[in-house]
Amino acid sequence: MASSGVSSKQRSEEEWRAVLSPEQFRILRRKGTELPGTGEYNKFYGDGVYNCAGCGTPLYKSTTKFDSGCGWPAFFEGLPGAIKRTPDPDGRRVEITCAACGGHLGHVFKGEGFKTPTDERHCVNSVSIKFTPSS
Ligand SMILES: [Zn+2]
Repeated sequence: MASSGVSSKQRSEEEWRAVLSPEQFRILRRKGTELPGTGEYNKFYGDGVYNCAGCGTPLYKSTTKFDSGCGWPAFFEGLPGAIKRTPDPDGRRVEITCAACGGHLGHVFKGEGFKTPTDERHCVNSVSIKFTPSS
């Protein structure tokens, strides 16, 4: 596959396969989903930033994480410009991906009644993100 030249964070399928674990590859590059309640960050609330597990771009601040009870890490807001939204082909859900590398994060839902500033729920696979504590 020829490089699109859009971003240095874009890689070919073979390159991703080489740098990601099989589970990361399945979720980030094949739009898979981890089993609910199993993710490393499902009930984790440290202070810091969550970066893309694929390319390291900062995606979410820990201050925007909340307990949705859905079984996956939930955030009410991404860092500006970090998250790309694409409606699923069936038009029922909106996929969220890392804007830098295109890695699949999960889906975003709106208007569910959560008491957050945005009333949005970014439902993100723990496998797709990597937490860095604030120093
Ligand atoms: Zn990324």
